[in-house]
Amino acid sequence: STADQLEIANRQLRDLDQAKDEFLSQVSHEVRTPMTAIRAFSEILLEAEDLKGAEREKFISTIHKESLRLTTLLDEILDLSALERGERGWENQPVDAESVLEQAVHVCHALARQRAMTIRLARRAKAATVSADPDRLGQVLINLISNAIKYNSTEHPQVTVSSRIVDGAYCVEVADNGPGIAKAERGKIFEKFYRGRRAGAALTGAGLGLAISRQIVARMNGKLELIEGTRRGACFRVTLPLLKAEAMAGE
Ligand code: ADP
Repeated sequence: STADQLEIANRQLRDLDQAKDEFLSQVSHEVRTPMTAIRAFSEILLEAEDLKGAEREKFISTIHKESLRLTTLLDEILDLSALERGERGWENQPVDAESVLEQAVHVCHALARQRAMTIRLARRAKAATVSADPDRLGQVLINLISNAIKYNSTEHPQVTVSSRIVDGAYCVEVADNGPGIAKAERGKIFEKFYRGRRAGAALTGAGLGLAISRQIVARMNGKLELIEGTRRGACFRVTLPLLKAEAMAGE
């Protein structure tokens, strides 16, 4: 009946309103931490006029770092909210996924080296054309690989990136041998602002990376998922419809 329909519409509006409130309070919370640091350190600098050398430098660099963190956060929020509104901001076009992947691994090498890790790349396709945007696909892969590096705390950390072609789809898996993701957290890690319990303060992300990545992949008609396996560590898989492929010699 009409009354029922009105009741349903009403409830949906209330839910939306609540989601919005929650979002705003999460954003405020995320903004507060860097803002507090910027304010405190700039006040010290203003008051302690005779502050010199290394100490002064340290305060200024903290202010700089925290403002960068704010900028990144705001960029990510804007990015995610545009994606959630259904705006794509790019045209999908034929892209060689294998070269995007290679580039992403290359970009992450520096981060890996800092933590005495190597990234192993195991490619199974010589070329794989998918419908995507190279920068955005690269963004997703870099996000997954840098997570695999960041959250890997084992003594012999390993990150393995592998690509293959299965049933007309292009697949990339990013696996690490770190602590992995606890069962209770598996359903939550793709939610915005969700940060794992183990994610310490030293890791600067706002918990938006996976939410953004999942949206981007969906806008390329693909999917991003967490693979549950028996091996230790986490494994994420990106699957994209394949336009054209060329197998490695001998396959
Ligand atoms: P951020 O890295 O900014 O916290 P993400 O959305 O990229 O945000 O990740 C959300 C959470 O998922 C992380 O805080 C972490 O707890 C968990 N996570 C992501 N990747 C891994 C991984 N490779 N190993 C273990 N935990 C991970």
